[in-house]
Amino acid sequence: MLVLKCPVCGAEGDETDFHAGGQAHVRRPATSDPAHVSDEAQRDYLFIRFNPKGLHFERWRCDRGCGKWFHAARDTVALEFKAFYGITELPPKDLMEQAKGPWAEYFRDRLKAEAKS
Ligand SMILES: [Zn+2]
Repeated sequence: MLVLKCPVCGAEGDETDFHAGGQAHVRRPATSDPAHVSDEAQRDYLFIRFNPKGLHFERWRCDRGCGKWFHAARDTVALEFKAFYGITELPPKDLMEQAKGPWAEYFRDRLKAEAKS
C-alpha cells in the first residue's frame, strides 16, 4: 500500500484516495517553437514515458480532499514516497540531483533558468 499526503490540503490516505496522473515534468516541444515541432517530437511528447527502476517523478490528484493536482517523487523499488510538492514547484534539490533520464536534463535547465532570474 502506498501512503500519500497532499501538499495542498494535507489530506492523507492510500493510493485509492488519490488519482495517479502519470509521469511528471514532461517537456512540451511546442512551447518554444510550435511551427517547427517534428512529428517524432510530438509523438514522444504524447505517448512515450520514462519508466525507470528507482526514483520516479509523478503527478497525483487529491480525490478525497481538495481535488488539486500535485507532484510526488517516489522510489519504485522501495514503494515509498520521497517528497510531495506543488504542481508548479520543483522537487527538493537532492532529488533533482539524483534524477536520471529526461528529468536530469529538465531539472538542470529549470535550475539554470531560475538562477538567471
Ligand atoms: Zn488535497
